[in-house]
Amino acid sequence: MPESSSLTPLLEQYQGIKARYPGHLVLFRVGDFYETFGDDARLLARELDVVLTARSADALGIRTPMAGVPHHAVETYLGRLVRKGYKVAICDQVEDARFAKGLVRREVTRVVTPGTVVEDGILGGPEHNFLVSIVAPPTGAGSYAAVDITTGEWYHGPADGPGPDGLVSTLAAFQPREILWTASEESGAIALLTALRREFPSARLEAAPAPVADGEMPVALRSGALGPAETTEPDRRLAAYLRVTQPRLLPHLGLVERGSGGRRLVLDAKTLRHLEINRPMNPDDPKGVTLLGTWDETVTAPGRRTLAFWLTNPLADVGAIVRRQEAVQSFVDRGAELEGWRARLRSIPDLSRIAARVAGRRVRPNELIALRAGLETAESLGRKLAEGERSTRLSALAGELAPPAGLVSLLRTALPEGPTPVDEAPELFRPGHAPEVDRWRDAERTALTEMAALESAEQEATGIRTLKVGYNQVFGYYIEVTKPHLARVPPHFRRRQTVAQAERFTTDRLEEVERRILEAREGIRTAEAVRWEELLDAVERQVPAVHRVSRAVGEVDALATFAHLAQSRGYVRPTVDDSSALVVRDGRHPVLDRLLGEGFVPNDTDLEPATRRMLVLTGPNMSGKSTYMRQVGLLVVLAQAGSFIPAKFARVGLVTQLFTRMGFTDEIGRGKSSFMVEMSEVAEILRAADERSLILLDEVGRGTSTFDGLAIAWATLRHLHDTTRARSLLATHYHQLTDLVRGLSAAQNAHFAVREGPEGIVFLHRLVPGATDRSYGVHVARLAGVPEGVLAEAERLLHRLETESVVPTAAKTARRRGPRYTQAVLLSEGAAEHPVLAELRRLDPDRLSAPDAARTLRDLKRRATADADGEERAP
Ligand code: ADP
Ligand code: MG
Repeated sequence: MPESSSLTPLLEQYQGIKARYPGHLVLFRVGDFYETFGDDARLLARELDVVLTARSADALGIRTPMAGVPHHAVETYLGRLVRKGYKVAICDQVEDARFAKGLVRREVTRVVTPGTVVEDGILGGPEHNFLVSIVAPPTGAGSYAAVDITTGEWYHGPADGPGPDGLVSTLAAFQPREILWTASEESGAIALLTALRREFPSARLEAAPAPVADGEMPVALRSGALGPAETTEPDRRLAAYLRVTQPRLLPHLGLVERGSGGRRLVLDAKTLRHLEINRPMNPDDPKGVTLLGTWDETVTAPGRRTLAFWLTNPLADVGAIVRRQEAVQSFVDRGAELEGWRARLRSIPDLSRIAARVAGRRVRPNELIALRAGLETAESLGRKLAEGERSTRLSALAGELAPPAGLVSLLRTALPEGPTPVDEAPELFRPGHAPEVDRWRDAERTALTEMAALESAEQEATGIRTLKVGYNQVFGYYIEVTKPHLARVPPHFRRRQTVAQAERFTTDRLEEVERRILEAREGIRTAEAVRWEELLDAVERQVPAVHRVSRAVGEVDALATFAHLAQSRGYVRPTVDDSSALVVRDGRHPVLDRLLGEGFVPNDTDLEPATRRMLVLTGPNMSGKSTYMRQVGLLVVLAQAGSFIPAKFARVGLVTQLFTRMGFTDEIGRGKSSFMVEMSEVAEILRAADERSLILLDEVGRGTSTFDGLAIAWATLRHLHDTTRARSLLATHYHQLTDLVRGLSAAQNAHFAVREGPEGIVFLHRLVPGATDRSYGVHVARLAGVPEGVLAEAERLLHRLETESVVPTAAKTARRRGPRYTQAVLLSEGAAEHPVLAELRRLDPDRLSAPDAARTLRDLKRRATADADGEERAP
């Protein structure tokens, strides 16, 4: 290769391209390798564990680091780079090196980023691959747009809450691989990036490009094209990015139906994590089990994506939930056929991704054959599904399973019967589809036959039985004669090559036939390339339609999975309505139930707006409080996702926001005190929650010393009860709270039963009404193996505290006097009973005359008011 004699011009070309693609890792094609130089080479060597070499680039002998990967394996390496969050520009040789004068022309032919890939090898799994764009204004809520270019889905809207936290929470359900961000001021950018890094450590972050004009948006997303859906700034920035990275795909995006209609239940990022819906709380824990993992018995790639989306975006619309439930019910009712359906579904490949690769021109012939087979299966499933179907959703889906008119027949007439085995020369088309290809194939066959005839004719003529026609890459066709027979070689044989045991010849006739073979092959190649491009163009026009079929496949699969789970695990259909009740009989934790089996103890839930909207759980560690709260949250998520649930019976009044705060280990060590963390979490909830929310607060007041924590816990509880009026479950180790709870009209205490036996305590995990009087902390410590001496000391101390503590008295007082006074007393640590109270206690009303009683009462009232005001003013 002429250019490899000196590195300098090559490096100059490389630097020129590198300058046009700042921030990209440039993979630069040189011969059979994709090379990198300088810092990129060091980076590549480190990240991919490939060899770092160095070559002298100039007369001074300065050595340039180089590292490369073989071109045939580039996909695998790309996958690893992209998953590590790099943006890669692939620079190819765009002219044939054999004909290049001097340096081969090179251009960037594609840019690969985590959010814009379509190859399965790079994507690494069937999960959604979201690219998002967010805009964070100086105040108030931001907005987002999210697209999965491999399925065509495009979502957009305002953030669920204000500031970076609101945006991060909204994005959590998407688990974006790449985030384009815009913040209007520097401080805002820092806060935003910090929040994004924390929540999505493996996502690629990039400053968003300037937005395109509305008129340059994909047709489906232009303002007005989808009724009230206006394009937003994030939409237009997303389009600007895709215009560079995936220009061919951009026009096909956003044409699938967005969501299956209806409002969604807002699950903020913390709730998703605390309930372990799509990822385990501790991502490094290999045994970390999620709700999605436990529920994922889908059989197709789109089915898996749909399920993941449903569980992270449950509905908050009774009608839409009921439609899903009816579809599940319909599958359950046709239970005998269900497994047959699922077996058929299983054979359907990831149609939408194949379609995306058609548009991106990265599709292999066998994939189109798989596309055809998959569409055929979808179509026949749709027809069967439509027969006697009563669920409106399933009837609609049955229709959506029908592939676009003409596409299947086009693929049927164009493509050969089945997938070509890899080692066979592929025939791209079925005979008859491309007459010019067929003609060239005929010509090739004729010429090959003549070549065979030529061999036997020369054997005949020369009398050399072992004479053979052969072929190699360098010399093409030849006639081979072994050494012993050379004497009989006729004069019209021209020598071309000598090998160990033979000589190789050519003849005019052989060259003539060879030329015809090569010409035919070239003819096949060009004719096929033209027709292949035509076929891809035709299929590309149907990309959005294929996306819709694929989406329907996913939805049918997810619904069938719910039915399958209901059948095989005995789940029941919850009644979801507009009430504010939450009633569950024998509910089980959906994940733990699978792990513990018979050992799991079912429990009831009985929330009801007027008298029991709040439940306060106390009791020892390990008794089951956290598990129960998660169970309630997960059952609501499942019910509103349309699934049947592990319970005997359930009635779920619609929840529109679910807040869950549990544990706090994940935030400690990030420089915040646990109290600060808890307070900001509580603040978030108190700000955002409303009457339709469900709030699960574990270890209320955990983060601080007794009195601060207790006071704030009480005030929080009071606010949730009186003002927010949300359904809520709270767990706390402040036994003092249980006393206070008795004074609230719609709150109840509960705890988990414990049996005390000679062998110590046994947790029964059974929910019982009322508060516990003991925390069993010492018992738990004993179970955990704390030495006896320490335990004995603890027992002594505990006894002293219990007999001397002022807190229970204060708490009892508070119950009678109301919250203002409560707080005052609790906050002044060690305060004894209020003097007015003490006096009241001493009074005997029966022995007071009426005027005395009135005077005493006035006096007491004056002192009580003065004291309360005084304490309120005091710092
Ligand atoms: P707490 O929050 O009260 O400390 P957890 O909810 O963390 O207790 O439960 C502790 C352990 O008890 C769990 O890890 C689980 O193994 C077991 N457990 C909890 N609830 C149940 C139940 N209903 N049935 C069976 N085992 C349970
Ligand atoms: Mg707990």
